[in-house]
Amino acid sequence: MSAATLLRDVFGFDAYRPGQQEIVEAVVDGRNTLAIMPTGGGKSLCFQLPALVREGVTVVISPLIALMRDQVRGLREAGVEAGALTSGNTPEETDAVWAALEAGTLRLLYMAPERLASGGVPQMLKRVGVSLIAVDEAHCVSQWGHDFRPDYLRIGELRRFLDVPLAAFTATADAETRVEIVEKLFDGRAPDIFLRGFDRPNIHLAFAVKDKPREQILGFAAARKGQSGIVYCGTRAKTETLSAALREAGHSACHYHGGMDAEARRDTERRFQQEDGLIVVATVAFGMGIDKPDIRWVAHADLPKSIEAYYQEIGRAGRDGAPAETLTLFGPDDIRYRRQQIDEGLAPPERRAADHGRLNALLGLAEALVCRRQTLLGYFGEDPAPCGHCDLCDKPAEVFDATTPVRMALSAALRTDEWFGAGHLIDILLGAKTDKIAQRGHDSLPTYGVGKEYNKSQWQAIFRQMMGHDLFRPDPERHGALRMTDRALPILRGEEAITLRRDTIRAARSSGPKVRELVAEEHAPLLSALKAKRRFLAEQASVPAYIIFTDRTLIEMAETRPMTLDEMARIGGVGAKKLDSYGKAFLEVITGAVEEVHPTRRKLAGRDEGVLYDRLMAVQAELARGDDGAGKPMTCSASVLAKVTQLKPRDLNDLIRIMGERHAERFGPAFLDVLREA
Ligand code: ADP
Ligand code: ZN
Repeated sequence: MSAATLLRDVFGFDAYRPGQQEIVEAVVDGRNTLAIMPTGGGKSLCFQLPALVREGVTVVISPLIALMRDQVRGLREAGVEAGALTSGNTPEETDAVWAALEAGTLRLLYMAPERLASGGVPQMLKRVGVSLIAVDEAHCVSQWGHDFRPDYLRIGELRRFLDVPLAAFTATADAETRVEIVEKLFDGRAPDIFLRGFDRPNIHLAFAVKDKPREQILGFAAARKGQSGIVYCGTRAKTETLSAALREAGHSACHYHGGMDAEARRDTERRFQQEDGLIVVATVAFGMGIDKPDIRWVAHADLPKSIEAYYQEIGRAGRDGAPAETLTLFGPDDIRYRRQQIDEGLAPPERRAADHGRLNALLGLAEALVCRRQTLLGYFGEDPAPCGHCDLCDKPAEVFDATTPVRMALSAALRTDEWFGAGHLIDILLGAKTDKIAQRGHDSLPTYGVGKEYNKSQWQAIFRQMMGHDLFRPDPERHGALRMTDRALPILRGEEAITLRRDTIRAARSSGPKVRELVAEEHAPLLSALKAKRRFLAEQASVPAYIIFTDRTLIEMAETRPMTLDEMARIGGVGAKKLDSYGKAFLEVITGAVEEVHPTRRKLAGRDEGVLYDRLMAVQAELARGDDGAGKPMTCSASVLAKVTQLKPRDLNDLIRIMGERHAERFGPAFLDVLREA
């Protein structure tokens, strides 16, 4: 079968994602390839599909057992013969894999790199006819990275021994890692390299200055109740207190950190993968093992350590391509803490300087004045237009020329010999009468009291932004006293101006970003019915919900409402096998949606209002496609119908207030007729 047919029939996708096609073609052609794609870009398809086009077995090396098992399950669900040889197998599973290998029916064999260490494995792979090696998370070969796996170094040897093409995949962007991959996996002979853009357009980006951070996180989670999310925290203790607070607030939440024993960690990973709507509050230890495509949000309760870390962590949201949201909190303490971590680390000086640079890039993003995505992707060498999908595009920053106050702040620090922190410097600028000022005679400085034009919180925002722009750095040898950096010199000398945000403090107070619904209100009841069906089927089969269908597929179903199996087959993510297994069940949900008794209706059962509700329901079903039956499908949510039933509005204006103009225009007159008769 051709790649295009397999894409449709086995994987159920209408089209390739950007970048996939070139990679698939190169791998099918048997060229050595290295593909660098963002998380969620769809790397697995780039080796799974060629594996089915090519003759023989494809061996997939992947570092994480949970991920392998998950992919194998997904492939089997799509009707592909795949198996894994891992330490987590039962003897029966291992026997079945061997049998399929010997029978020549297995198409993909997943394997942990450790296996390569046991003698005889390369010979075995040769004997069963391995014709392609795919390496997932190829950056694990890098000795400099955090994910280094010594056994990955055996892969190059395996490639030489089998003499088959190798396709390597990673989401790690930096050039150093790339060079190392080429050297270790391909003996330095450059493969075809595919570098896909780093944008993840479905992820909404937002930062906020900390202001009662616990409430900020609770508020963000409350607006997304029932959706799977991750909250990253800077400390282990905080993961525990914050997850308790979330549970208190009625969420399903648990914590995760490196100090927990392996069993407990695996258990949490399993729950997260399996359950719908669980929140995990974690340190960065919760990371590479996570391959859940329907994580709907990621929040940072503390600032990450670098722009790369930030990108990786938010990148875990929305792999399925459906809308996902992020919120990153930060404050001056975070900046001090992260600087200190670097300064007190054991890395050699060049490395420390580079780490400060990566932190600066993140702070630049946190304090950005224009589109966050432009700033983020700019760091990765891209130059996109404003995205329209970040907090700064939603609401432009209010800025002001801060050259004068910044120079005042610098001068206050210099005139006190750079021995003080922001608190004392602000007291000087405001002309405060504190003991410390009196003792040190700082009230006689020329800068004393020159900054009264701004209040204390405005000064705090200015100092924080100055740290963010790396004009001031806390000096660990002076208990965190602020010292001017060379970057500040041109401003001090009056050669450069600087613009800062005025609104960060206020913005923090006025709640987090607003909630974006996954679908328009009229489709929400159907989407939740489809999700309920999915949950039921998933529980029956003990697989994670997304193995049945991803959120994105259900959203498309809810929006386009296929009425036949043929129409169902056209939905993204519905391949032949899945159509066969689940098509009918989901079709019934859609076609039966009108008749299904909604819980809101159930509450009205046996009352006059129940009858009224049903009549409204019937009328709206008749008008679902407008008077002439040719309009865009539109329905009212159960809660709107219930409101109409209970409030019994008497005129169109009242109805508009309840159901909005668009719906009132279509259904209003007919509803009013029903209400008058009641
Ligand atoms: P990565 O490994 O790059 O992080 P995955 O391979 O896990 O990403 O793919 C992420 C999600 O995208 C999966 O849910 C997958 O089913 C989906 N996906 C991959 N390719 C396509 C495509 N061409 N069309 C629609 N969805 C796709
Ligand atoms: Zn933007």
